Amino acid sequence: MTDQERLKSGLALPLMEDFYTLQGEGFQTGRAAYFLRIGGCDVGCSWCDVKESWNAASWPLTDTDEIIRRVLDCPAKSVVITGAEPMMYNLDYLCRDLSNSGFELFLETSGSHPISGSWDWICLSPKKFSPPLPEIYNLADEYKVIIQSAGDFDWAEKNTGRLKEGCALFLQPEWSVIDTVMEQVVEYVKANPKWRISLQSHKYMRIP
Ligand code: SF4
Repeated sequence: MTDQERLKSGLALPLMEDFYTLQGEGFQTGRAAYFLRIGGCDVGCSWCDVKESWNAASWPLTDTDEIIRRVLDCPAKSVVITGAEPMMYNLDYLCRDLSNSGFELFLETSGSHPISGSWDWICLSPKKFSPPLPEIYNLADEYKVIIQSAGDFDWAEKNTGRLKEGCALFLQPEWSVIDTVMEQVVEYVKANPKWRISLQSHKYMRIP
């Protein structure tokens, strides 16, 4: 089987890094989980803090069975799959195997690619430059919008009507401008309490 075929079938993935830590953001904040960061992203956020992840070719094509082996001993029995943009890949095989091994699976995605795999929790974090595919809004359990400037509040509101009932709504101040936008985000949530604030608490805890 060629590398392209392994990639296409989900039997290999460009694994950038994997580590056991706590989820720092959003609804699942504070939960211990094994993180898999899959390399490759075509969204191009100016404030991205993992730009080195964008080029998938920079990361070793790793057998999915090897990735699963690394996860299996994790005591938390939960896995966060993030990127870059993990939905650029077929994650059906990875999810099926981990799920059969008793793991809860959490996805972080921009929604710009079709969903593969099956998930216990989908965090949709939309990006203006490459908005989510229409069908993904209804699949999200959590909608986490990054706020970089005052203009982003309108963007945050724009598609909330497409989300399923009960979807958790979060505004997350962009880290590099947090001192500038924090007060605006706090005031916005006070005035619009359907939203909650998500902070990148792992950065305060100084953990990955
Ligand atoms: Fe970075 Fe995520 Fe934006 Fe991709 S979608 S550029 S990984 S912040």
